[in-house]
Amino acid sequence: MNNSHVTVLEINLNAINSNLNYFKSKLDKNTKILVVVKAFGYGSDAVKIAKILENNVDYFAVAYLNEGIALRKGGVKTPILVLHPQKDNLGKIVEYNLEPTIYSTNLLNHFIDISKKLKLQNFPIHLKFNTGLNRLGFTKKDISKISISLNSQKEVIVKSVFSHIAASEDLNEREFTLQQINTFNSISKELINLLNYTPFKHMLNTSGILNYTTEAQFDMVRLGIGLYGFGNDTKHTKNLKNVVTLKSIISQIQTIEKGETVGYNRAYKTTTTIKTATVPIGHADGIFRQFGNEVGYVYINNKKAVIIGNVCMDMIMVNVTNIMCNEGDEVIIYKNQQHIETMAKAIKTIPYELLTAISQRVTRVLKE
Ligand SMILES: *Cc1c(COP(=O)(O)O)cnc(C)c1O
Repeated sequence: MNNSHVTVLEINLNAINSNLNYFKSKLDKNTKILVVVKAFGYGSDAVKIAKILENNVDYFAVAYLNEGIALRKGGVKTPILVLHPQKDNLGKIVEYNLEPTIYSTNLLNHFIDISKKLKLQNFPIHLKFNTGLNRLGFTKKDISKISISLNSQKEVIVKSVFSHIAASEDLNEREFTLQQINTFNSISKELINLLNYTPFKHMLNTSGILNYTTEAQFDMVRLGIGLYGFGNDTKHTKNLKNVVTLKSIISQIQTIEKGETVGYNRAYKTTTTIKTATVPIGHADGIFRQFGNEVGYVYINNKKAVIIGNVCMDMIMVNVTNIMCNEGDEVIIYKNQQHIETMAKAIKTIPYELLTAISQRVTRVLKE
């Protein structure tokens, strides 16, 4: 073992494959699957995951240009949708054979101009419509303008039309979601009538696949967090396999006498003699400072050890007074989905944020 890399994020490939198959089992045979690998594959390893899944999925998506370039440089050949390109990126998008999401008339006209300069033919673009998330996208009133721009050129072709649901995990918002689906249906119908070809359609993210395949499966789905083991609800998450485990070791064990303090700002004060373990992972690795002062806990030899005092940049101290352990023993910082969900809830966030916060300083290790 390489001792300079004691803190590792293990990524379980069998779990990834099994989660992919679980979502596939919810879909019609012909529905295409796009796997979202933005933000380093939700904090895991985008390139490795894309390489492994390449033959089992139809598309990958990233948020930004650089993430798409990283996949191409890593040898990924599958089509890659860039969800949020910027005007200045469009040339590079073409250079790396990525496919842009076009979400405004400004971006559309700019991309057509670039395509003419580059003498492209039928270069694939994807049109994003805002149906209620109010984040990014064209609206119904843009349709005629879009179709006029598109019908007067041959450089770009609309490969797909899509939208994004605002609350696919929240069944209390079912009515709003069905409204979004309706809006998307009518927008895509109107657009397709004005073009003389038929782009494919997609709308569902992970929770969408779990809750709305009957209403909005369309031609493709966009699977993100589910692949990494989270279904945004205990009843769904329990059907998914745990993908990531964050591990480190005990660097040092200390005995702290009654009346002493632990860590910066002397935030923890002992009332009896305690035993602490210092672990080489801190807020620079993505362990939020809010986990300090007994909010978060890790596992050592299968027992919970709470984080005491403030989280440092590179270290945490945990209470191991009642745990048999030695320097060098394994520390599990994120054990499984339930642990990550509990930790997320404790600091009023969601697993998405904890996963994507694990910094690039932590070595990623793939496990069969
Ligand atoms: C991130 C993202 C997804 C994936 O969402 P999950 O909830 O992780 O499945 C799908 N579509 C778009 C547009 C996104 O930005």
